[in-house]
Amino acid sequence: MCLNSMKNNLKDISLYIHIPFCVRKCLYCDFLSFPMSEEKKESYVDILLKEFEMWERTLSHHREIFKTVFIGGGTPTCLKPELLRTIGERIKRHISSETEFTIEVNPGTLTDEHIEVFKDIGVNRISLGLQSAQNTELQRLGRIHSYEDFENNYKKLRAAGFTNINVDIMSDIPGQSPQSYKDTLQKVLELEPEHISAYSLIIEPGTPFFDMYENGELDIADEDTDRDMYAMTKSLLAKKGYNRYEISNYSKKGRECIHNIVYWNGGDYLGVGLGASSYVNGMRFAAPADFDEYEKFVRENYLKKSKELTEIASNLEESEVLTEDKKIEEFMFLGLRLTEGIYINVFRERFGKDIFEVYPDAIRKHIEEGLLVHDREKGRIYFSDIGLDLSNYVLSDFIIG
Ligand code: SF4
Repeated sequence: MCLNSMKNNLKDISLYIHIPFCVRKCLYCDFLSFPMSEEKKESYVDILLKEFEMWERTLSHHREIFKTVFIGGGTPTCLKPELLRTIGERIKRHISSETEFTIEVNPGTLTDEHIEVFKDIGVNRISLGLQSAQNTELQRLGRIHSYEDFENNYKKLRAAGFTNINVDIMSDIPGQSPQSYKDTLQKVLELEPEHISAYSLIIEPGTPFFDMYENGELDIADEDTDRDMYAMTKSLLAKKGYNRYEISNYSKKGRECIHNIVYWNGGDYLGVGLGASSYVNGMRFAAPADFDEYEKFVRENYLKKSKELTEIASNLEESEVLTEDKKIEEFMFLGLRLTEGIYINVFRERFGKDIFEVYPDAIRKHIEEGLLVHDREKGRIYFSDIGLDLSNYVLSDFIIG
């Protein structure tokens, strides 16, 4: 599929639902997720559905069907199956057979009842968080599952008829060798998932790993090992027919994650749930990340039935109407993540300007350095292989002002 044909138009909107619960916190994780009581999870879903209804009332009639739906977290399968069913039933009227509907699953939490619910509510894509096929590495990361749990879940999902599965894997895990990483890649490839997300570990402030790192207790990969693993990912996945369509994402033909492409193309999406971000009509906003604040925000606005989306969103602490310059910057930063790059005519249609006039120096400089490529035939600008590796350096020149 040509990713350019998936560029959003203003009629498209996607939905993200955040489930901020996990069995326990992984040692490297800085996502908004916590272990929580069943009672709290039930009351959270109740508030979340009120929030959904609040935004739903503000969406205009031509936006009834979501282009994509993504239930992520956290660990959505930390919710009892019937709670996921309640969410699915509530959003069902906004889903068509065309909607890509993904749910994140963490091994060790998936039950047969969850799988039944997925099928009933229209889930057609699964994203499984494996990270590593080595149980010692999984333990080191603080994951709750073994490789065998993952494989068992994967096979059950396949047997249940899911034909679009992503597997998340991680490099630069403390103590991981190129050989053990290669073994993870090979084990995953034997299963033939449609999509693989391959990220390297980032040590985030505020996590136990950060403190361990500061105390010199983490055996992390040196630059050469990191480079070896990076190169191994590219070559092994390419050999098996996976197309690298984004810096860290690989898929079989036509199995790119449409939901993420909406983000990277600067498309509209509504985020529902604790701390969830949205981008609608040039406005970026995020729900409070504190449970009490979140509940207060929803309860206050849920009752005010006549409000417009922008009016509600502007009450949020995190809300911003993007300036034209900011929109252009984001378009460049996100669009260049895609290996297909940015189409010059799409830029012109969206901003009414010529990309070479907006960025006369940056584009020329990085083309001369061999980091960007101007494909005149297709009218696009994209990262060369080396450019992808040095993307942060290149992108820093696309900040306006
Ligand atoms: S399962 Fe994912 S979201 Fe939950 S703690 Fe681990 S890394 Fe974070």
